Amino acid sequence: MWGTGIRKLTLGLILALVGLPLCLAQAPESDTPLAPVSLQLIWHHQFQFAGYYAAEAQGYFREAGLDVEIRHGGYDATGQAVDPVDEVVSGRADFGVSRSDLLIHHSNGLPVVVLANIMQRSPLVFLTLERYGFTTLEEIGTRPITVTLPREGGDKRVSAETLAAFRQAGLDAQQLNNLTPTWNIDDLIAGRTQLTSAFSTDQAYFVRQRGETPIEISPRDYGVDFYGQTLFTRRGVIESHPERVAAFRKAVLKGWEYAMANPEEIATLILEHYPPRHADYDKDFLLYEAARIRELMQPELIEIGYSNVSRWSDIATIYQELELIDDLDLSTFLYVPETAPPAAAWDTAGVDGLLGNFWPTLGWIVFAVALSIASYLHLTNRRLAQEIGLRRSSETLLRQQAEQDGLTGIDNRRQFEAHFHREYQRARRHGRPLSLILFDIDRFKQINDTYGHLTGDRVLIEIAQVTRRELRAHDLFARFGGEEFVIILPDTTLDEARQVAERIWEVNRNHAICEASAFIRYTLSLGVTELASKDGSAREFLNRADTLLYQAKHEGRDRLCLEGV
Ligand code: GH3
Ligand code: MG
Ligand code: MG
Repeated sequence: MWGTGIRKLTLGLILALVGLPLCLAQAPESDTPLAPVSLQLIWHHQFQFAGYYAAEAQGYFREAGLDVEIRHGGYDATGQAVDPVDEVVSGRADFGVSRSDLLIHHSNGLPVVVLANIMQRSPLVFLTLERYGFTTLEEIGTRPITVTLPREGGDKRVSAETLAAFRQAGLDAQQLNNLTPTWNIDDLIAGRTQLTSAFSTDQAYFVRQRGETPIEISPRDYGVDFYGQTLFTRRGVIESHPERVAAFRKAVLKGWEYAMANPEEIATLILEHYPPRHADYDKDFLLYEAARIRELMQPELIEIGYSNVSRWSDIATIYQELELIDDLDLSTFLYVPETAPPAAAWDTAGVDGLLGNFWPTLGWIVFAVALSIASYLHLTNRRLAQEIGLRRSSETLLRQQAEQDGLTGIDNRRQFEAHFHREYQRARRHGRPLSLILFDIDRFKQINDTYGHLTGDRVLIEIAQVTRRELRAHDLFARFGGEEFVIILPDTTLDEARQVAERIWEVNRNHAICEASAFIRYTLSLGVTELASKDGSAREFLNRADTLLYQAKHEGRDRLCLEGV
């Protein structure tokens, strides 16, 4: 340990001795011209681009040797829609801001590369009003809605997130009373639509201003968790100017850090230097937007800009299921920041020559300075490593919280929805069997009433433990709600699922929870079913399991019901 420390210090010393004069020699001259680059935003100026304005205003771009032109998106002066992907791929811009559908462009062969995921969550929501009396997609029925679902022959790209969420909810886009979105809240307030596509950073604010109570339904409630704002470039820029790309990315992330720490100041900056499109995007609105953006970025928990390969691969799976992309190659899609140049680049003969010309005393001074620098570098690195470790574990914790049930530790409803839809698609695509077990505790209210809610909680925890032991590693076990549980059994026929269900039924009815004054026993009712060709959607399949569970209750509880049995 000590030996490694000494080695690191010695290495640091050599690097510092050689690096210091080299650095001084190579320091950019103050009159070095800045490299002109352009950044194409995806929409008109708002707080959602705060980090870029902050990087400019704070001089981070200039320090990086760059003269950055920030271009607003949306519509240009002639009323033409501006597409950042087009701008960057054609070479009219060097950097761009996009969304998760950048992956579709990549899969179509465009040379786009993700530099940073600025928003860890997508802002897309479906907005309704409290007075319309519904809170889930399943309740839409024949109400007029305006969401970005594909139309005949239309481009599905902008709708992928919506389409995936609606599919998860078991809705068929063609059966809905869906009109073209106007993105105008007047239509929602007047009742011309009762559910409309919106951004969590925007429309609800104005709905409240009109005295209405907005309700937001998120695709995340249906297991669809896309990235939001994504900074990208084209491969050619990385190949020809790797150092420029690295410096730009670093300055942007620094800008975002500043903007999130100083939202008031950046809101004023936006109003003065980057006027938003509408006059009602005033300071109060920009600060509302800043607060909602913080929820999407989670800068306290996740390193700003962090890109997670497995999340991208989850998004790719959804795109594949929607038949928007064929193959998946993430290796050229995500930017890998350049590492420092290797030490071999320094000429050791030059070092000898350099040292030979110094008086011994001066040599010692240099030695002392170098030693301090080496120690400082060593400590900084260690602190940095600790911080990265801390952030990684925070992120893992956050993901766990989002996916796991807080009481039992098994998957939660949201995670179930995501897995269920995926397994459903997989079974359909490959013609593989898929079974479901849905079960509910019998007369659980009595347990709560007799022993108290805390004991009821313990019963739930033990049921989860006892049941988990009966399952295979790839079976997916989730808390469906209250005291109802669900198990997805991939590659499993009805007969095999029946055997699993019988085991679960039996171990639970033989299990007793040891309470101070008694042994608590309980039974389960179970519905067991296999995916059938008549199931038009995942939801229909799940509904059949639910009907069977209801039948088991109706027939007297403490039993399992299978279809056709
Ligand atoms: P049934 O046989 O018809 O299912 O009867 P039941 O008493 O189980 O009826 P029901 O399913 O309607 O009641 C469920 C009860 O489960 C009501 C609710 O208070 C309780 N419950 C739901 N979630 C929790 C929880 O997290 N902890 C505890 N202790 N109780 C819960
Ligand atoms: Mg019950
Ligand atoms: Mg129940």
